[in-house]
Amino acid sequence: MKKNLETICIHGGWKAKKGEPQQLPIYQSTTFRYETSDEMARLFDLKDNGYFYTRLANPTNDAVAKKIAALEGGVGCVLTSSGQAASFYAIFNLCEAGGHIITSNNIYGGTFNLFGVTLKKLGIECTFVDPDWDDERIEACFRPNTKCFFGETISNPGGKIFDIERFANMAHRHGVPLIVDNTFATPINCRPFEWGADIVTHSTTKYMDGHATQVGGAIVDSGNFDWIKCQNAKFPVERLPRLEGAPENAFPGLTTPDDSYHGLTYTESFGEMAYTTKLVVQLMRDLGSIPAPQNSFLLNIGLETLALRIRQHCSNALKVAQWLENNPKVGWVNYAGLESNPQYALAQKYLPNGVCGVIAFGLKGSRQEAIRFMDSLDFISIVTHVADARTCVLHPASHTHRQLSDEQLRAAGISPDLVRLSVGIENVDDIIADLAQAMEKM
Ligand code: PLP
Repeated sequence: MKKNLETICIHGGWKAKKGEPQQLPIYQSTTFRYETSDEMARLFDLKDNGYFYTRLANPTNDAVAKKIAALEGGVGCVLTSSGQAASFYAIFNLCEAGGHIITSNNIYGGTFNLFGVTLKKLGIECTFVDPDWDDERIEACFRPNTKCFFGETISNPGGKIFDIERFANMAHRHGVPLIVDNTFATPINCRPFEWGADIVTHSTTKYMDGHATQVGGAIVDSGNFDWIKCQNAKFPVERLPRLEGAPENAFPGLTTPDDSYHGLTYTESFGEMAYTTKLVVQLMRDLGSIPAPQNSFLLNIGLETLALRIRQHCSNALKVAQWLENNPKVGWVNYAGLESNPQYALAQKYLPNGVCGVIAFGLKGSRQEAIRFMDSLDFISIVTHVADARTCVLHPASHTHRQLSDEQLRAAGISPDLVRLSVGIENVDDIIADLAQAMEKM
């Protein structure tokens, strides 16, 4: 039976059979027992399916991965030990030393560093583009060795909306997939595969968990990208001529034999599951960044209420953004759900039911005054974390980027007065009252 998202949040991934626990059990075991040596050998040759070692697969992790795949409308999902690991493996599953990727520059700072500094050390080059540039300027950044395009549905911390359809078409014209980090939107508000994205990543640490209990990530494959023909089968576009020097085989890791499995080829043996199978049996086998089953259990509890919570986050955030917009102590507000926001139309296209709970705004006055504001907050807490049930703030100039001068901050694309407010699911009148009393003390 086809189910709606609210129902998948509760029932996806795990269905208790007669006499089994109603709640998803925690399979806290490293390993799984077999009766004969041959049974075990067939698992290692990928001839049979089955659990044998938790680094490769675990029933608790698998159930939660299945739920997230269903929420996003993908064919498969792999859970990782953090959102950072999800971003890394999503790319590394396609791109090796000598490869190149393109990313929007409106992305989370940790991802910016991963792509710009750490991937470079592994021989993967990254070009950062401003999504506000015109197509011609961005298309000029594609190279014969480009393997994917990356962006965040709603960027952290700036709250900019990524034009998924535009960039999916652009990536497909060049024969590469679009990877979208859907952390802030969640599949409740936006399902990037419906706009042509090929792979979705998440920091499940954020809204999916929603209670700040575990750090985790997820990679979901739409199953639509044909790794041999290099096009999205569901969203075909006219391909541009191949760039000089482009290899015949753009994704050899998926389409040519893997020596570590007796010459098995993922696309041949696993069809639309090629990408996720390779990610598990090759990358998790060799690099092992899986979540603990206990963490997947906690994530699953969070997912059960995701749809409910997201609605409350969005309705609260819109009211808070409107209040901030009319507050004389506030210099500017960036929340794409505000009608006055330049990205309002784009937000309505991709996120018609609500944007998210995260607002960026600037207070009039000095850094010192921003600090006084935050120190005067009552239940709204100062944390590095974002996107969960409790309202919280972060002032990059005083916290994550405190060693930078105002000029250096602006050069990094962060306004010195930027306050990131993550609106929780408390009563919105109390959230506004707390902000108001703290602003009085500025
Ligand atoms: N992607 C986005 C949009 C994020 O906001 C974050 C973290 O804040 C990450 C990825 C990294 O996730 P994690 O902290 O779970 O490693």
